[in-house]
Amino acid sequence: MKELRHGIAGDGSNRQCLFQPLVTPPAETKASGEAGLARCILKNSAPMKQAIVTLDMEGVLTPEIWIAVAEQTGIAELRRTTRDEPDYDKLMHYRLGILDRHGIRLSQIQEVIGTLKPLPGGKEFLDELRTLVPVIILSDTFEQFAQPFLRQLNWPTLFCHRLMVDHDRITGYQLRQPNQKQKSVAALKSLNYHVISAGDSYNDTAMLGEANIGFLIHAPENVKREFPQFKAVESHAELLQLIQGAL
Ligand SMILES: [Mg+2]
Repeated sequence: MKELRHGIAGDGSNRQCLFQPLVTPPAETKASGEAGLARCILKNSAPMKQAIVTLDMEGVLTPEIWIAVAEQTGIAELRRTTRDEPDYDKLMHYRLGILDRHGIRLSQIQEVIGTLKPLPGGKEFLDELRTLVPVIILSDTFEQFAQPFLRQLNWPTLFCHRLMVDHDRITGYQLRQPNQKQKSVAALKSLNYHVISAGDSYNDTAMLGEANIGFLIHAPENVKREFPQFKAVESHAELLQLIQGAL
């Protein structure tokens, strides 16, 4: 095996060429610019794809936070979720209006979330999956809500949003960027990842469409009917099998 070292490309471009043979400069380094640099790298490292999985959180690994809040507060209107309302902004303004009318504060919601457990088998599924492939959770939840679940799920990586709070009153929410699930998958693909995604709801379908392979799990009938292009399963075991087959 050739000895490798870090070095400067011999093309006069002053660009660093990783994994350059120590003794004999490769002929490719005579080329100039980006093309020469790329050929130099590829000579010793064939291009390849690595897999990564992105998962929705609520409905896939954990219960729906807002449904639990509806049950514990007795406010049935809060049962409406992304499964019922495709327009997330509309849904959030609807929810925040209800919280305000009933005087419900952030700390009360956090108390409810603190009593919730992941869905049966959710943690075990995630633990097993993380031994096979890197996993990122892409959720439309908020930093202030997610922590009790992350602790119980052994602190997986989560990309989500942030609530605006004033003296414990939720005044609004900030999206890090619109369509973050779909854009995160697009960004991972640009890094040469083969992306496998799974979710349960309307707000996952752009992510599933962007992914190399997308699956539905625990999805309601209306979502399955509208998006038949995504294979739908009802258990973590089935999803794990599908993901393993897609790696
Ligand atoms: Mg969901």
